[in-house]
Amino acid sequence: MASFRRTGVLSLAELAGQLPPLERLRKGPCAAIECVEEIPCNPCEEACPAGAISVGEEITSVPRLDFQRCTGCGACLAVCPGLAIFLLDLSGDRPRLTVPYELLPVPQPGEEVELLSRAGEAVGRGKVVRARRAGTTWLLTLELPSEGLLWEARGVRRGK
Ligand code: SF4
Ligand code: SF4
Repeated sequence: MASFRRTGVLSLAELAGQLPPLERLRKGPCAAIECVEEIPCNPCEEACPAGAISVGEEITSVPRLDFQRCTGCGACLAVCPGLAIFLLDLSGDRPRLTVPYELLPVPQPGEEVELLSRAGEAVGRGKVVRARRAGTTWLLTLELPSEGLLWEARGVRRGK
């Protein structure tokens, strides 16, 4: 049995093949779709202006991303009901991670926040460099102190 079925938390091994390769991330932001359950859902596919996401005719199929077609626009993050899509970026001086955020108040650029793992545990600190509204969801772009956190951090907590 996959470990996430016991723990509720996806491991990097379980995401193998779904995360963008390093050479793609060095060119700019790219989506990472951490959706592995066969559920009837496809707004990410419909929202993508680049046609980079494919669920296919069977709506319960797991979405597949064409990393080379993804422009890193963030449209899919804003429509995913599972908050299961992130943007990863290794093109600048510091790694950047964009996460969907639906709590108030919304952290603003310049604010330091605690970074949370997929299990909700504190794994470090990051700085908000961009906060943009996309419907009812906010997209927070964070500057990270290390590349390792780009694979581990998936949430944000304010005020710690
Ligand atoms: S970030 Fe934009 S281009 Fe990339 S998969 Fe999402 S919607 Fe498509
Ligand atoms: S919108 Fe989110 S939950 Fe639905 S298929 Fe796409 S990634 Fe999975």
